[in-house]
Amino acid sequence: MDRRNFLHFLGCGCLSIGISSCSTVPITDRRQLKLIPEAKLNAQAAQIYEKVKKKEKLSNDTKQLNEIKEIGKKMEFSISEYFSRSNLKDPTSGFDWEYILIDNKKVKNAWCMPGGKIAVYTGILEVTKNTNGLAAVMGHEVAHAVAKHSVERASRGVLLRTGTSLLDIATGGKLSKVNKATGMNTVGLLSQIGIMNPFNRKQESEADYLGLIFSSLAGYDIRQAINVWENMQKLNKGKAPPEFLSTHPSTKNRIKSLKRWIDEVILEYPPIKKIN
Ligand SMILES: [Zn+2]
Repeated sequence: MDRRNFLHFLGCGCLSIGISSCSTVPITDRRQLKLIPEAKLNAQAAQIYEKVKKKEKLSNDTKQLNEIKEIGKKMEFSISEYFSRSNLKDPTSGFDWEYILIDNKKVKNAWCMPGGKIAVYTGILEVTKNTNGLAAVMGHEVAHAVAKHSVERASRGVLLRTGTSLLDIATGGKLSKVNKATGMNTVGLLSQIGIMNPFNRKQESEADYLGLIFSSLAGYDIRQAINVWENMQKLNKGKAPPEFLSTHPSTKNRIKSLKRWIDEVILEYPPIKKIN
């Protein structure tokens, strides 16, 4: 599937609102609404990230954390390098990347806040199994941040005059359930920056697609993304997935799309290596 087809696949919900407040997502060129300054959201995210670090139990497995950082550093470099070689503005130029590993086996998740603040929960490691699997998950989460999905969502909130506080109330019941089931102390805190709130399907598919590209540019085997989602499917068998995961597209459809994209991404986005 080439870029044009991908665009068609995603459609565009932005045209009717007016071009002036629209920008485009890097690589996919999907138009998106951006009313809120990115720097403002990044600053807010950085503050919440500091609170998360204090409230959650951080893992003392330095070997595992180093693996996360190594994958992250490769991704940081190859993303910036890709955009600079393509003579495009680097969407991560305002990022201040940071990585933590949270010790909570019940949470099979990871996230990347606007501005590149990343958390991996130890629970996701039994799903990702190995370095390539972990890179697939991190690629997906980083893609949400690179594509500025949180800015887009917050902007829609402004437009619809709902704001995030209303969103919190609307999802409050679900969030407290997640809190009870997983022992996460920071569910409410994270929802302030939209981390626990669902991204829409377009954004999810886009993060899947861009995630493959970023993992491939960073030199990882992106075929492992399929294994990750198959493992997730097995783990969820017979019981409902946690609420915050159920907002992701159905695993079956997601695997189908990934399979359709993988070969093309491997060919078009080969690893970018550091020269020195
Ligand atoms: Zn996602």
